[in-house]
Amino acid sequence: MKTAIIGTGITGSVIAREIPDAIVFDKAMKPGGRTSTKQFSNGSQFDIGATYFRDNVRYLKNRQEITFSFIDYLQKNVPDLTIKNLTETPDYFYPSEGMTKVSEELLSKNQLYSEYTLEFITRDQEKKEWKLKFLNGKEFTFDNVVITAPIPQAMSILKNSGIMMIWDDFIKPYGEYRSTLVIAGLWKNVTEETRSEIAGMSNFSILEKNKDSEFMSIESAKYETDFSNIALAIQFSAAFSSRNLERWKNADGSPTDDALKNGAYHFEKFLKRNGIKSLSGKEPDEIQVHKWRYSMPDTSIIDKNSIIDLEDSGYSDYLKLCKEHRLWLAGDWVFGARVPRCALGGVLLSQEIKKTGAL
Ligand SMILES: Cc1cc2nc3c(=O)[nH]c(=O)nc-3n(C[C@H](O)[C@H](O)[C@H](O)COP(=O)(O)OP(=O)(O)OC[C@H]3O[C@@H](n4cnc5c(N)ncnc54)[C@H](O)[C@@H]3O)c2cc1C
Repeated sequence: MKTAIIGTGITGSVIAREIPDAIVFDKAMKPGGRTSTKQFSNGSQFDIGATYFRDNVRYLKNRQEITFSFIDYLQKNVPDLTIKNLTETPDYFYPSEGMTKVSEELLSKNQLYSEYTLEFITRDQEKKEWKLKFLNGKEFTFDNVVITAPIPQAMSILKNSGIMMIWDDFIKPYGEYRSTLVIAGLWKNVTEETRSEIAGMSNFSILEKNKDSEFMSIESAKYETDFSNIALAIQFSAAFSSRNLERWKNADGSPTDDALKNGAYHFEKFLKRNGIKSLSGKEPDEIQVHKWRYSMPDTSIIDKNSIIDLEDSGYSDYLKLCKEHRLWLAGDWVFGARVPRCALGGVLLSQEIKKTGAL
């Protein structure tokens, strides 16, 4: 049984770990998807998507409540990965080398093709095979195809393939794009006073749900070994991000003047609000921006805040469709937009995919 996995986010990476002979493709240069890490020019790193994860996810199977521990899963499967927890909030975890490292480690047994953008797939009904065609002109044939791209991107692959009909009604509710702008700032050679002010913040992050800037995290608290650097990252709300999406990044990836001005304003706002007086009025030495386009349904098939019920009719209809066509559309729209939920989803789906080998 030959399996292709499209996408190296947490969902694709866990499925890949569970099916080591699966071949993995991603349009990006580096693995990780929305669990990715970037660097400032001095090497200081920061996460541009998920900034931490929690451990346990509860689910119901045969009316039994089971707890999946993502940390146990990582320790068992990728023991070389060092996981730390935030001092102030010990139930929040992160890999000491950055979020990208989770996918890099999980994918280490699979053959991986980076910078391969899937354009469309076609079904050979007689041979019961899928033919995959990539933007670079390369083609491959597989028995099972797992697409973990966000739904709007998956929809465009299916539309190009003329096989949208089977999934149409099912995935439409999850097909809206959502945007998130992320801005990260680095202050070098900060004073002892700044360091102690930052260290004194009660939590590493401040949430301002549904305001322009939604979430700020102190990335240097996670990754910095040179304590004279402070790195902060801000994630912006969907409304703000959509308004500014095309205005923040130059073609070469650098921030536009608009982004620099706005970013400095928002950093200043957070610093003031948290009483960090010594950095107030000091613009970052370096700013980087990232823009995400993905889908974030109001509720996933299994709502992200509730216990995962594997007997939920939405989930069983979904599985039936995947099995029938050996086409698995997967990702956080199924189990909920949280890293450990995607990981559990990856484990459960790979068990189902492996069963199809015997069909
Ligand atoms: C800004 C932000 C902050 C977040 N913060 C947190 C947090 O703190 N904690 C938490 O638990 N969760 C957080 N989340 C949610 C979490 O990051 C996601 O739910 C999870 O990472 C989704 O993983 P995934 O594998 O389903 O999808 P993705 O990570 O999006 O992976 C999909 C992959 O498919 C690839 N792809 C797309 N189209 C194609 C194509 N045509 N061909 C080939 N490859 C393709 C993409 O490049 C990508 O690598 C956050 C999300 C965002 C955006």
